[in-house]
Amino acid sequence: MKIGIMGGTFNPVHIGHIAFVRAFITQIELDMCYVIPARRSPFRMNEPLAEDIHRLRMLELGLHDVALAKVSDIEIQREGFSYTIDTVKALLETYPHATLYLLIGEDQAHRFKEWKDWKELLGLVQLCIIQRTEQANLTTLIHDLIHGLNVKNPLILKTPLFHVSSTLIRELRMSDQSISDYVPKNVEEYILDNNLYLTS
Ligand code: ATP
Repeated sequence: MKIGIMGGTFNPVHIGHIAFVRAFITQIELDMCYVIPARRSPFRMNEPLAEDIHRLRMLELGLHDVALAKVSDIEIQREGFSYTIDTVKALLETYPHATLYLLIGEDQAHRFKEWKDWKELLGLVQLCIIQRTEQANLTTLIHDLIHGLNVKNPLILKTPLFHVSSTLIRELRMSDQSISDYVPKNVEEYILDNNLYLTS
């Protein structure tokens, strides 16, 4: 069984995230893909973070028609910071015979060595990376990441570049501009109905 994992803050989910989940499922031929909003990232202590329940609900709306995607509250339910190594170990207890694939963006790949127990993590999952910028040199990045380690070679997912970030969406909202180009309609409605991201 092949199980995908995509974590993130999803503050809020955007069209890139959704396209990546679809590409991940198709290209790796996953049996299911867990999409897991983090409770609070240690890297993001200073950012405005929509309530957990809003971020979870927006992900469910954004992924409602992606049949093999499963939005999970495992990290939101867990006390303290969300660390991927803990999530991966929990999933391996539930699915001891599964092969786990972990999807991260280029920016996260650059800081992967700051992740808790990153070497152990690389031994437990097959890492998959999405390019985020035109000038990315993922081959060098991957070489640097796994150099000297006996782990699977990270894969690069084939997707078009998406020039979108959750930060951009929050900034557009704060300056009262439309976000309709960057989030699905139902997520936009949810953000407007709940007056999200109007203040920093
Ligand atoms: P923020 O703007 O708040 O930093 P974000 O847009 O990076 O948020 P996250 O929730 O942090 O969104 O992203 C979850 C995962 O998706 C991360 O691994 C991140 O690298 C990746 N990702 C997000 N947006 C893109 C993008 N446009 N291209 C490639 N990867 C992306």
